[in-house]
Amino acid sequence: MDEKVKIGIIICDRYRTCAGGKCLRSLRNREGAFSIYENQEVELVGYATCAGCPGGNVEYAPSEMKNNGAQVVHFATGLVVGYPPCPRIAFFRDFVEEKFGMKVVIGTHPIPQKYHDTHTRLKTWESVQWQEMIQPTLVDEAMRLAYD
Ligand code: SF4
Repeated sequence: MDEKVKIGIIICDRYRTCAGGKCLRSLRNREGAFSIYENQEVELVGYATCAGCPGGNVEYAPSEMKNNGAQVVHFATGLVVGYPPCPRIAFFRDFVEEKFGMKVVIGTHPIPQKYHDTHTRLKTWESVQWQEMIQPTLVDEAMRLAYD
């Protein structure tokens, strides 16, 4: 097994009361965006909301996570599937990578099928940029249904 990876998760403040059930389940099962750690031990060292639009805590939370040893920041799948998805997500990714020198992964748990259905009808993710950003959490339909 490779060396342990330490990660932090930033969630969209719309879901601030979320207990993290789907994120923690997918982390445990190495599903969705966490499948990249299939052969690695992972430690969650930080979990915070963005603090609400326009996401002021994205300026600070990664630093605290880094102080705890985080090498990777995951943006929770809520930023991708919310109505609307976070309009600042690409900037946040570029900012965290540039400012803190940390890797950013977009997504945590698999996209639930009900969100996938609605966003497909809305054509939300048709752009090349969004197609790229949903890849870590797109998975197959059976897995999406398991996270509905
Ligand atoms: S949409 Fe983006 S900036 Fe607004 S609360 Fe959600 S993650 Fe934060």
